[in-house]
Amino acid sequence: MNIIALHGGLDTSRSRSFMEILERAALDGFMLLAEGRVPAVEAVLNVLEDSPNFNCGFGAVLNMDGEVELDASICDGETGRFAAVAAIRDVRHPVSVARRLLEETSQVVLAGDGALQFARQHGFPEENCISEEQLDAWRKARESLARGEKPAQNLYTGLAYHGDTVGCVVWDGKGLTAASSTGGCSLKLPGRVGDTPSLGGGVYATRLSAVVCTGIGESFVETLTAKFVDEKIAGGAHPQQAVELALRRLAELKGAEGGILAVDAQGRIGSAFNAGQFPVVVMEEGRVRRDFEPVNLRRALSAH
Ligand code: ASP
Repeated sequence: MNIIALHGGLDTSRSRSFMEILERAALDGFMLLAEGRVPAVEAVLNVLEDSPNFNCGFGAVLNMDGEVELDASICDGETGRFAAVAAIRDVRHPVSVARRLLEETSQVVLAGDGALQFARQHGFPEENCISEEQLDAWRKARESLARGEKPAQNLYTGLAYHGDTVGCVVWDGKGLTAASSTGGCSLKLPGRVGDTPSLGGGVYATRLSAVVCTGIGESFVETLTAKFVDEKIAGGAHPQQAVELALRRLAELKGAEGGILAVDAQGRIGSAFNAGQFPVVVMEEGRVRRDFEPVNLRRALSAH
């Protein structure tokens, strides 16, 4: 059996057009699974990086200066390898740059200009990642700030609709891999790095689990939430129980919202969130599982 599970970000739309892109991404990943888990997660995230609907690659949110700065990472539980790029500009597929770093160097994180230089040396062309919609939202937000008003847009997406970090976990019967890609938070400070390149914060994989998270990056970094999920699974918890415990802890420690997706070495899935929406697609042996829904803990957690 094999599993490809992916999410489109916290509070991202679950409308048909969004779900169709997620399902196509899962299928692209499945087609490459015979080549390996890393090519599969890369293929999944490349589809989402190409779509303006998700906060990654083209269409990512803009920082305070009106630039797109992207974070992406891959963690392979079987080999124990991790690689990430942080605050990289003008590259449409940062997860592919992270893959090159993973496979061709022993270094784990490249940031800013160094990451860009590495990308260019490896043939990644200069590509615009700023969509018209995000630019327009950024201009309006800056105008609000100039008037001393709080921007009406969602700070994490920059738009009226939401769209956060995307992530993918894969189990191929032999091992587990996790990967994420994001534009981070709208109006972030230039150079700000979130939880996506933070091992154990927003992403983690071992021989027992693969975990990806979305939400306010700082809260995941400060609580090492992805690692917490792995520890619970290592202690015998079902992935569903592990992600729910992690979300509860995140809400208690940081009062934060989040979405978590995990798979274990038996191919069991766990997914929970405490926000409006969290689109998740689970593909088993190339077929989308229609019976799978992430658990919304928003009401349960807000009652505390
Ligand atoms: N976790 C991302 C970050 O803070 C944002 C998100 O998931 O929406 O960089």
